[in-house]
Amino acid sequence: MTTTDDSRSDIKWVSQNNKLVPYAEAKISIMAPGLTFAALVFEGFRAYWNAEREDLLIFRLEDHLKRLEFSMALLELDDPPSRETFAKDILETLRANEFRADTYIRLQVYVDEWGSMNSTGPVGSSVICRPRPRVANFQTGQNFIVSTWRRNGENASPSRMKASGNYLNSRLAGLEAKRQGAGGAIMLNDDGTVGEGPGGCLFILRDGVFITPDVTSNILESITRGTILEIGGPLGIPMVERTVGRTELYLAEEAFYCGTGQEIMPITAFDGKPVGTGEPGPLTRKLQIRFDEIVRGATDDHDDWRTPVYKS
Ligand code: PMP
Repeated sequence: MTTTDDSRSDIKWVSQNNKLVPYAEAKISIMAPGLTFAALVFEGFRAYWNAEREDLLIFRLEDHLKRLEFSMALLELDDPPSRETFAKDILETLRANEFRADTYIRLQVYVDEWGSMNSTGPVGSSVICRPRPRVANFQTGQNFIVSTWRRNGENASPSRMKASGNYLNSRLAGLEAKRQGAGGAIMLNDDGTVGEGPGGCLFILRDGVFITPDVTSNILESITRGTILEIGGPLGIPMVERTVGRTELYLAEEAFYCGTGQEIMPITAFDGKPVGTGEPGPLTRKLQIRFDEIVRGATDDHDDWRTPVYKS
């Protein structure tokens, strides 16, 4: 087994089927369709520690729960728990673990026990929270490859749905990048346009404008991407969503990868060709700083994006 991100020992309590249980006691059936047929959808998001307020602030909880509702509807689950129930489970789990550091929250909903490919119940759910610091390459950035694997198509295994099954495609690209000594991968669509990476979306800067593949480019409708699109304009950084061609990657003046895990991580090269100077760019830095202020609650702006955990 190899893992670079192991915080199991920090997890005391998880929520399973809407009840708190010790992590070691949370189990699902080995014949659960969630496992055997990947009948599982999930969400991943962060809560940021604000030392001054001594509080954890969940970033865009409501938007993540809304996206989960869409994923659950596509999976056609029997009567899954409501947004309110999940919000309550998440708060309870975070409080029970008493985390006082940046935390990652994984919420998953699946078909449990026993069943076929088409089973729609019984529905199980779990909330697992663990400390998760910022990625090591946040400042320095990473080099990316364009993967030889194509991104899941809208009519095959839609990326808009946050389903564990989609991550087989992501894994293939991630392993390819790892074999090549790259920090990450970007996948193209079948028509050769740019999709996204295994676990994040992409922005490139051309002529002073940040461009990101649009929501019909086989991407997950990333909440980090949406946040960046919203905060860029007021900083004087124009933002555009459109189809992106592969060769545009090689013309980019700056580029970054974004998502809950990476937040905003500079991309320093594509296929060995340096992006701009080969160093993280100034506009990427500006977005990182503003993003950090917002997620951490160092500003009152966008207060509705932050849900306090201990002082609500
Ligand atoms: N694309 C994929 C495939 C992802 O797994 C993620 C991470 N959830 C993202 C994009 C980024 O989405 P978000 O900003 O909502 O975390």
